[in-house]
Amino acid sequence: MNDSLTDSLQRPLRDLRLSVTDRCNFRCTYCMPEEVFGPDFKFLPKDSILTFEEMERLTRLFARLGVEKVRITGGEPLLRRELPKLIEKIAAIEGIRDIAITTNGSLLRKQAAALKAAGLDRVTISLDSLDEETFRKLNGNKSNTERVLEGIEAAAEAGLQVKINMVVQKGKNSEDILPMAEYFKSKKHILRFIEYMDVGNTNGWKMDEVVGKKEILNRIGQAMPLEPLEPNYKGEVASRYRYEDDGQEIGVISSVTDSFCSTCSRARVSAEGKLYTCLFAEDGHDLKSLLRSGAADEEILRSISSIWEVRADRYSDERREGKPAGHKVEMSRIGG
Ligand code: SAM
Ligand code: SF4
Ligand code: SF4
Repeated sequence: MNDSLTDSLQRPLRDLRLSVTDRCNFRCTYCMPEEVFGPDFKFLPKDSILTFEEMERLTRLFARLGVEKVRITGGEPLLRRELPKLIEKIAAIEGIRDIAITTNGSLLRKQAAALKAAGLDRVTISLDSLDEETFRKLNGNKSNTERVLEGIEAAAEAGLQVKINMVVQKGKNSEDILPMAEYFKSKKHILRFIEYMDVGNTNGWKMDEVVGKKEILNRIGQAMPLEPLEPNYKGEVASRYRYEDDGQEIGVISSVTDSFCSTCSRARVSAEGKLYTCLFAEDGHDLKSLLRSGAADEEILRSISSIWEVRADRYSDERREGKPAGHKVEMSRIGG
């Protein structure tokens, strides 16, 4: 492992987010709105998407540069065929000590056991409401809560560590904060509230639709008192809290009102093999061409290192400082 690789703000490279597809079976209004990602939308052709062998090779190289944790994402990662094969390959890489997946959960019930058997450690399931009508409105009328809840339980039964992500949008699902908190408290699953972000260029984000960390905690704390917890490790994205009565944990990911760029150690590789050094980057660095040009490992390592060494991204901090945004990559390309 290379401990000395740091970016221009002294941040190491520790986490790799690997997007395995740009396609999704949902059309969440804040991520892939149907008006933009409709039937005519041109998704990536198959041959421009990295193969599992290419992803494995890249991950092995990233591990040599300090990456210890890998998160598989999308689009919807469970749409990628034979995903357990990729998990197996990544689990065998020296230095990788944690593999997680972020999924909308709709296809999880059938796949949970195979993913666990392949070496997956953790799964984060996105669910924005328990109210059927609200959930359908938010996911573009593509799925129901029952399917996702079955996926969550199947993951827990398979022995995967489970977390739930809820993106909170004022006027859309802010009234669901408390019912979600109560439900997952009773199920003993960690629920994390995510401030609605201005990712991509298609969701029409407005600051006044953000429900900030303080308000989220107030709403829950008034009904079920909370106390703060120490971070598990430096650079953890969620601030952690627990209920005073039963100790069940919750988290808040406050990228808008309380950003955390100073400890961001995450690199993202899109399904087409572009390296993004920030969720809000304008463009990525093409690693696929390098891979397919027959480049040796050392050359690819040098290329990734030189990209990381000059990294200066701190988009969410700059947003708070009032700096205007440029054109950003879409979330469904790089997976959050
Ligand atoms: N399809 C999978 C899913 O939904 O879990 C993985 C990809 S999705 C892009 C990853 C995460 O990003 C999800 O938890 C989703 O809710 C979150 N997300 C998408 N758009 C967002 C936005 N505008 N603000 C905050 N979180 C967002
Ligand atoms: Fe699909 Fe996930 Fe984006 Fe929703 S958030 S549209 S499930 S990629
Ligand atoms: Fe990291 Fe960019 Fe998010 Fe800041 S805005 S935490 S640099 S991904």
